Amino acid sequence: MDVGYDVPAEVGMAEAEVETPCLVVDLAALERNIARMQAEADAMGVALRVHGKMHKSADVAQLQIAAGAVGVCCQKVSEAEAFARAGVADILVSNQVRGARKLARLARLPKLGVRVAVCVDDAAGVAELAEAVRAEGTDVGVLVEIDVGAARCGVAPGAEAVALAQAVVAAGLPFVGLQAYHGGAQHIANWADREAAIASVVEKVRLTLGLLEKAGIPCPVVTGAGTGTYPFEGGSGVFTELQCGSYAFMDADYGRVLGPQGTAPVFENALFVLTEVMSTAGPGRAVCDAGLKVMSLESGLPVVFGREDVRYAGASDEHGTLEDPGNVLRVGDRLRLVPGHIDPTCNLHDWYVGLRDGRTECLWPVTARGKAY
Ligand SMILES: *Cc1c(COP(=O)(O)O)cnc(C)c1O
Repeated sequence: MDVGYDVPAEVGMAEAEVETPCLVVDLAALERNIARMQAEADAMGVALRVHGKMHKSADVAQLQIAAGAVGVCCQKVSEAEAFARAGVADILVSNQVRGARKLARLARLPKLGVRVAVCVDDAAGVAELAEAVRAEGTDVGVLVEIDVGAARCGVAPGAEAVALAQAVVAAGLPFVGLQAYHGGAQHIANWADREAAIASVVEKVRLTLGLLEKAGIPCPVVTGAGTGTYPFEGGSGVFTELQCGSYAFMDADYGRVLGPQGTAPVFENALFVLTEVMSTAGPGRAVCDAGLKVMSLESGLPVVFGREDVRYAGASDEHGTLEDPGNVLRVGDRLRLVPGHIDPTCNLHDWYVGLRDGRTECLWPVTARGKAY
């Protein structure tokens, strides 16, 4: 493939030659993160259904599945389509899908040989889904999402959730189980505070499971958790499946979510925005080529990986301003930036450049980039 037309690198290229700014993946760190999370899920006796909304990459998903993940989660129908076309065989849309057009597309996916499930949080949504599934003549599994404290989607735990599960069964749809995901709890920095937040989630799930059992509705799956809280859901005895996503790459925000007694996170930074210094014209300052168009900043500025002497201080569209009090940076110097928030950052790029020992080993497309509908 000719460099300069569509891609930031070609296989075999040294890291120093890769076009900047671009996303680079430390393949060895990614492999260690994948192996570690799978080993933890296995040790706790729960399934790992990796969240693909973070990397949007069929290649990364296939590595995670090869390591033992049961499938992927994603948030949107178009994202599910992208994963399905790329050969991912078991997909949960861990979100609500509403409206006839979207639901028709969702209900068509099993025709590609894919196992599909989706969340619901009201009876009208169940009716819409049943209609779409009937029209396509396919099977789509259904999870009732309960609001366990994040105040996003989901019905109240307990009686309301049971009523909705009954509506699923009455509509002739397969009731797979409960989704109980607490997004806000993922980013609580303190371990004990996260543990307390998930203890309350587990209580809400237990209450709902008890009432489902009384109503005679089997509930084989309880799914939820993310990179911040998975040890608590995994060890709860009620969750059967973890939906962790960010652990594979990590980001600066998750770098501040600490382990017991304030220990550092156990997952490594595996994804970086590779950037090059393009100006040192101002004293104490350097300017790099990575700004707003290659990184999302809503969770904070990126961290310069492995450097204490310089600091990323501000971004505009195409520029990143670095504080360089010792004037150590030179034009052409390269830095690895750990983005503040990985999910929206990856969605800004077409390619991942996979690096091992300083060389480009692979180029992976961001398969579901822009698939937000
Ligand atoms: C984002 C998300 C996850 C994964 O969370 P991470 O923090 O990236 O590990 C899991 N489940 C749902 C429903 C999500 O929206």
